[in-house]
Amino acid sequence: MKAIAVKPGTPNSVHLRDIPEPSLDQFPNGKGVLVKVLKVGVDATDKEINEALYGNAPPGDDFMVIGHESFGIVEAVGENVTRFKPGDYVTATVRRPGGSIYDKIGTYDMTSEETYYERGINLLHGYLTEKFVDEEDYIIRVPQGLTHLHVLMEPMSCAAKAVHQAYEVQRRMKVWSPKVAWVMGAGQIGLLTTLCLRLRGLHVSTIARSPGPHLKQEITEGMEANYVSTKNTDLDELVKQTGRPDIIVDATGSSIIAFESMKYLGLNGVLVFTSVTGDSDKHELPTSKINLEWVLGNKLLLGSVNANRDHFEMGIKDLALGEMMYPGVLEKILTNPIDGLDNYAEMMRLLVEDNSALKVFVNVASE
Ligand code: BGC
Ligand code: ZN
Repeated sequence: MKAIAVKPGTPNSVHLRDIPEPSLDQFPNGKGVLVKVLKVGVDATDKEINEALYGNAPPGDDFMVIGHESFGIVEAVGENVTRFKPGDYVTATVRRPGGSIYDKIGTYDMTSEETYYERGINLLHGYLTEKFVDEEDYIIRVPQGLTHLHVLMEPMSCAAKAVHQAYEVQRRMKVWSPKVAWVMGAGQIGLLTTLCLRLRGLHVSTIARSPGPHLKQEITEGMEANYVSTKNTDLDELVKQTGRPDIIVDATGSSIIAFESMKYLGLNGVLVFTSVTGDSDKHELPTSKINLEWVLGNKLLLGSVNANRDHFEMGIKDLALGEMMYPGVLEKILTNPIDGLDNYAEMMRLLVEDNSALKVFVNVASE
């Protein structure tokens, strides 16, 4: 079957190749689920893997199939599978457990081992192919009523984890009841985080560079959040308008903006970093001033990566509620379909060149 792969370590090595079909026998415990791939989303991680900034081939192979945002339909299940049946729509988690205690209890997103195993990202093949097989524990049901949001399940799981973790750590406040949120960045993670925070009743400002009107602004405002362009509004000015935020989530992809955000967080607040920055940016900051404010303000900095099945389920609930609250808004994120695995070059071109492409995804097959 066809697959889109890279040669990890070799820049611009994206190519189409032929790989063997997976089978349920790969799971002798009878817990395998065989999925026919319908659509796969790609993001900056795929772009940076193709730039050879990170990513390693699975042991024994000199290539890695990319793609970690999956959507498909169950084709067959092993005899011990209880949660799925042929015809179910599904997605799959990305990370697989290592050996730490966190891995063993299903929280592999919090592994304490340096090496992490992620399908389509590091040491495991991904989903940009015609079929995949995996254990039932890593497969998540996509409700029939959300199939039009297909490849958003994985990015949403990362947004849901980031917001959930923020609330978890803020239990330190006993009665934390945030009112004002800033989301840095209006890419897919920024917009999906905006949704999570709006559904929790916060006043959200979603902050990006380019002034509207454009699609990012339309989607942000469609969720009753405030779109702010840094070209028009400087952030000190925004503090005067919204007050200092109780929570800031950075999803810009820029470590500079992530660190700059430290200047604006409110007392007892939490700043969440979610950008995976493969570049080597450097930046100067008034560190003593920030340090003083952070100590005197009991502020917290939190990093968040990946998502386990609980976060996928939380994310799917938020997408469902989001559809009820803001009908038709979320699907506007799905901007750039690519027709078939054969068009891998166009897929990569859009990822690299088209800044207005909010979400590039491949239509691998119809049902
Ligand atoms: C993926 C996450 C992954 C992270 C780091 C992101 O693009 O969506 O699942 O953990 O990259 O590799
Ligand atoms: Zn991703």
